[in-house]
Amino acid sequence: MYTMTPRCQLRAPPPPRAATTTPPAPSFTTPSRADPDELRSTWQHRAWTLAGATAVLSSVTTSATTTSPTSIAEPLAASLLAYTLADLATGVYHWLIDNYGSPTTPLLGPQIAAFQGHHAHPSTITRRDFSNNLHSLARAVAFLLPPIDAALAAFTPDAASAHAFVGVFAASVAMSQQFHAWAHENPRRLPAGVAALQRAGVLVSRAAHAAHHREPYDCNYCIVSGVWNPVLDRYRVFLALEMVVFFRTGVRPRSWDQPDAAWTEVHAGDADGDGESE
Ligand SMILES: [Zn+2]
Ligand SMILES: [Zn+2]
Repeated sequence: MYTMTPRCQLRAPPPPRAATTTPPAPSFTTPSRADPDELRSTWQHRAWTLAGATAVLSSVTTSATTTSPTSIAEPLAASLLAYTLADLATGVYHWLIDNYGSPTTPLLGPQIAAFQGHHAHPSTITRRDFSNNLHSLARAVAFLLPPIDAALAAFTPDAASAHAFVGVFAASVAMSQQFHAWAHENPRRLPAGVAALQRAGVLVSRAAHAAHHREPYDCNYCIVSGVWNPVLDRYRVFLALEMVVFFRTGVRPRSWDQPDAAWTEVHAGDADGDGESE
């Protein structure tokens, strides 16, 4: 179902840096390896994850209880569409925070730092506790989904499909970090069902996501099923968006200037991130 596209080789070279353009965002220092305690779930992490799961459950339950037995196909189709579009949404978001802003950017700064830290230490995500990994996205779901469901109930006469769509979309986006962690996991440690879903293209595979962590670090951004990656990479959608941003604002995405400490993996014994073990 899923095939990788070597967009990296297809990509046109970025425009040369012009003296008059806005300088790129401040360069990242190499993120340090996470302390083991930073990978554990706190009660706040668990509370936000539970709140997000409750919001999703409420949305899906509302859909199920308002669906007539004769029209079950519509909510199911809406759910499939939501799962597919969630993959696209994670790709756009991942591309955005991988390439723009800095740890001091309002609102998104912690996420930008976390994703750049992930590029320096990719396997760390496999050692994070479940709620530690999901709580940020779950918190967004807990805040956003209930008012959306309330609006759908108030203004949409036949809202079963709409509730199914927003519930599955939110759940898929929130779970994307778990799917991402499984894409980094040693295949021998994966549950058999997860490995089967990865092989079937239902979940983003280890092989597909590995391309995102290799030079030139500008492809395979989607982390739900990965089904959008070949399309986005073949048609250079993100490069087109980067060009629009560059010519309108002069801001270069970080991927045009890689590899540097912001992207490259820090190996054990390479404390300074220069690629050489000490
Ligand atoms: Zn990334
Ligand atoms: Zn990754």
